[in-house]
Amino acid sequence: MNDLDGYYKKSLLYTFIFLSFFFTGCANNHAKTVALSNKIAVDTPVVVKVSPGIPITYDSTKRYIYITLDDGPQNGTMTCFHVLSKLQAKASFFMIGTQVDTEKQRKKLDSIRNSYPLFLLANHSYTHANYNHYKAFYSNTDSAVRDINKAQSGMKVPLKIMRTPGNNSWGINGRVRAPALTKELTHALDSIGYKVVGWDVEWQFKNAGGCRPVESTENMVRQVEAMFNSKNAFVHNHVVLLAHDRMFQKDQYADSLSKFIETLQKDPRNVFETIDHYPGIQNNK
Ligand SMILES: [Zn+2]
Repeated sequence: MNDLDGYYKKSLLYTFIFLSFFFTGCANNHAKTVALSNKIAVDTPVVVKVSPGIPITYDSTKRYIYITLDDGPQNGTMTCFHVLSKLQAKASFFMIGTQVDTEKQRKKLDSIRNSYPLFLLANHSYTHANYNHYKAFYSNTDSAVRDINKAQSGMKVPLKIMRTPGNNSWGINGRVRAPALTKELTHALDSIGYKVVGWDVEWQFKNAGGCRPVESTENMVRQVEAMFNSKNAFVHNHVVLLAHDRMFQKDQYADSLSKFIETLQKDPRNVFETIDHYPGIQNNK
């Protein structure tokens, strides 16, 4: 009798547990269905668009590389566009206002601006320091700021991220590292909310016999590795590479760019990012 009693008790308990799960489950499913249908009704017309400057979370197991290409739109811009697109390597194009002087150049500018999150358009001044007259340009901070603002609005640069022409200047959230020539301007730009981005490694070019890269792909990969292993980068574990679109316009040099990226992509630690995701820039003031 005691055993039987125990059996009924257990059966009742199990039945109760089963029914509890059953009803709770139904209730939850019902709630989910309602929530889901509401969500669909509300969300359907919204087109999801990623905007430049949305913060990312850094992965401590990764190393971040920022390819930056200066002086476009120019010959070689679309070569870089195609090589980088094919390899899905993010990059930033620092462009010059006066370079946008034809419909063809305007289209290149638009192609870059419209390719975010793969590519980011950034500001490299309107006149490139009055066509490389660096001393005169940087000695007048107010007119230099006007020049940079003109490029910013004229090219519809999405974020206040710029690079000083011909000089490696850094100015991010009050931290300035710049040569004497550009120091005053860099502070002025920083104070009005620009992020002034320099570079850690440069892939140089030569104009003799058509514009071409100076260093080999292997050399550049080694330089990037060395920068990661040193404490010399502006921010450790984040390496900014400077190159110019026009270096890669010939097929053989476009191949150098491909090979450089493919070699770095073989290391799973390496991540290519756009410069809006560089530390201190993503939280734009
Ligand atoms: Zn330049």
